[in-house]
Amino acid sequence: MSLLTVEHLNAGYGSLQVLDDVCFDIEEGTITVVLGANGAGKSTLLRALSGMLPATGSARLDGHELLSSRQRRSVARLGLGHVPEGRGTFGGLTVEENLRVGGHHRPAAEVEDAIKEWYDFFPRLAARRDQLASALSGGEQQMLAIARALMAKPRLLLLDEPSLGLAPKLTGMLFGELRAIRERLGMTVLLVEQNAHLSLEIADDALLLTAGRMGPKQPAAVLREDEQIKNAYLGA
Ligand code: ATP
Repeated sequence: MSLLTVEHLNAGYGSLQVLDDVCFDIEEGTITVVLGANGAGKSTLLRALSGMLPATGSARLDGHELLSSRQRRSVARLGLGHVPEGRGTFGGLTVEENLRVGGHHRPAAEVEDAIKEWYDFFPRLAARRDQLASALSGGEQQMLAIARALMAKPRLLLLDEPSLGLAPKLTGMLFGELRAIRERLGMTVLLVEQNAHLSLEIADDALLLTAGRMGPKQPAAVLREDEQIKNAYLGA
């Protein structure tokens, strides 16, 4: 069953149109990666879906229209989580306060359990729980941004370049765990990632965005073996 259905999505910045009639859908419970060159519009797509950027067309999450102005402010309540590229934290709040903000829609007891769970997963965050987010390294801020989004237990998680700023070892660990996290939370993931090697390893499906136009969805396993993809994105 499709959890997200996107039809004729157009978005851009002022007179610059970036996304051009984008259509695709995402099956519930899957990890889908969007691959594309720099500037293809991958981040713009996630910003449009989460209401950070005005867009036309349609994007329905479990039947609920995300793009209507009424819904834009409450996409989180509909079950959408977004980890934007770079920083996705409140610098003036501590690590723990950031996690609590992430879980504020959930019952208090669940929040305490979830905080413990993510501290176990990211021990560096546990060690820095009382520090301001602005004092963390880039990698630590990335971990916090991901943990904060997961605190809300989103049905659909939009992840923009999670490997950015993370040491290779931690990226490997995060990608290795993403499937387990997805299963634990019963989550669906839409991932934008430069690291095509790792993302195609863990993804079920893949989409190619070329200059704002979306190609057909394909099984990630097929793209892993595709010569053109290997040349363009896998450095083979
Ligand atoms: P990258 O991997 O380099 O981030 P991307 O596929 O995510 O690439 P986007 O960041 O979505 O690409 O950018 C798509 C186009 O929109 C680019 O031409 C970019 O210069 C432009 N763009 C992005 N952000 C803005 C902005 N805030 N204002 C104006 N133009 C922007």
